[in-house]
Amino acid sequence: MMLIPCPHCGPRPETEFVYGGDANVKRPDPAAPDAEWTDYIYFRDNPKGAHRELWLHAAGCHSWLTVERDTVTHAIGSVSYTKDSGE
Ligand SMILES: [Zn+2]
Repeated sequence: MMLIPCPHCGPRPETEFVYGGDANVKRPDPAAPDAEWTDYIYFRDNPKGAHRELWLHAAGCHSWLTVERDTVTHAIGSVSYTKDSGE
């Protein structure tokens, strides 16, 4: 089981968290072309290796976190509070 080190609660099992998606995705400008909106809504990268992700500590402090996780080994790099979820 993966342990995510919440900055507020300390290391917690992944079952306390809800995955919130890719932390690198940014919402387009409302006037952006349809192709840009389609990419934002439907398409995500599936990287192998280090990846920045959003996680909600749903069974803990309810903080949104930005977690750098290796998608191959599940090793956690940095963890920080999410300032802007891209919305
Ligand atoms: Zn927490």
